[in-house]
Amino acid sequence: MKVLITGGAGFIGSNLCERLLNEGDEVLCMDNFFTGSKENIKEFKDNYNFELIRHDISEPFNIEADFIINLACPASVPFYQKNPLKTMKDNVFGIFNVMENARRLNVPVLHTSTSEVYGSPSVHPQPETYSGNVNPTSIRSCYDEGKRAAETIMFDYRRTYGADIKIVRVFNTYGPKMLEDDGRVVSNFIVQALKGIDLTVYGDGKQNRSFCYISDLLDGIMLLKDSKNFTGPVNLGNTYEFTIIDFAKLVLSLTGSKSKIVFKELPKDDPIQRRPDLSLAKENLGYSPKVDIETGLKLTIEYFKKRLGL
Ligand code: UDP
Repeated sequence: MKVLITGGAGFIGSNLCERLLNEGDEVLCMDNFFTGSKENIKEFKDNYNFELIRHDISEPFNIEADFIINLACPASVPFYQKNPLKTMKDNVFGIFNVMENARRLNVPVLHTSTSEVYGSPSVHPQPETYSGNVNPTSIRSCYDEGKRAAETIMFDYRRTYGADIKIVRVFNTYGPKMLEDDGRVVSNFIVQALKGIDLTVYGDGKQNRSFCYISDLLDGIMLLKDSKNFTGPVNLGNTYEFTIIDFAKLVLSLTGSKSKIVFKELPKDDPIQRRPDLSLAKENLGYSPKVDIETGLKLTIEYFKKRLGL
C-alpha cells in the first residue's frame, strides 16, 4: 500500500515511516521541516520504498496515495506557540488540503488529533464522550481549537461527501526521535539530567500527565488504520499517571544524575490533569499499551545519550 504521511519527519511521523516500511508499505513522507528533522529520516533515504516530499500542508497539494495519515502540525507547547497563526493554518487549511486530496482519490484519511481537545479537563480520566473545557482565546487555543476544528471539518467531509475518516486523540507520547529542544517535559528532563543541569519543574509540579511509549502509540495507530467501520475519535496513550515532580524524580533515578530540581513559573493555561480513558480503544481495537514506563524511559535515555554524543 502507498501511504502518504504528512509530518513524516517529525517525532511520531518518522517512527511511523519506519513501522510502515518494515511492514512492506511504500511511504511518501511529506514535511516542511519546521519541526521535522532530516536526521529522523536519513536512515530511510536509500530505501526504494521511501520518498520525501518537501511541502507545507497549509498549501494545497495533489499527491497519489492509497491511504493518508495526517500528522503535520507543530505539537510541543513552545513550538506551536512560536507562530500561532501558522499553527491554526496548519490545522485548518491543512486538514482541508488533506481532505480535498483524499476526496479526489477516494481514499481513507487517518488524522492524529490530540488530548488537548479536552483542554483543562474537569473530568478525569477523559473519555471520548467528554466534550472538553477549552478556552478559545488562550495562548494554547491555536493548537487546541485548531485540532478541534480539524475534527469538525473531517466529520463534515464525512457527512457531506461520505469521506472515509479515522481520528486518533494522542495523549503525551515519548521515545526516540524526539527533538532535544522541543520543550516537552520528557525531553527537557532527560536532557537536563544527562547534562547535569537543573531539572525545571513548572509550577509546584503537582499537575499530572500520563506517558505513553512511542511503539504503543504506533500499535494503536496501525490497529485503527487496519480497522473496518470504526471512525473514532479514539484516545490512544497510556494510563501511567505521574505528578510532574514525581516524574522528575523518576528521571533522576533512571539516569543516576546529580542534577537538582528547580521550580519555574507555570505556563499559562497549563492543564492540571490528563489521563486517557482507554475503554473505547480496548473495545474497538483490542488496544492495550505494553511498554512499562521504566523500560520506555531507559530506551529514550539511551537515544538521547547518543543524540547528545554523551
Ligand atoms: N513541564 C515542566 N517542565 C518542563 C517542561 C514541561 O514542569 O521543563 C510541565 C508542563 O508545565 C506540563 C507538563 O510538564 O504541566 C507536560 O508538559 P509538556 O509540554 O510535555 O506537554 P503538555 O501535556 O503540556 O502538552
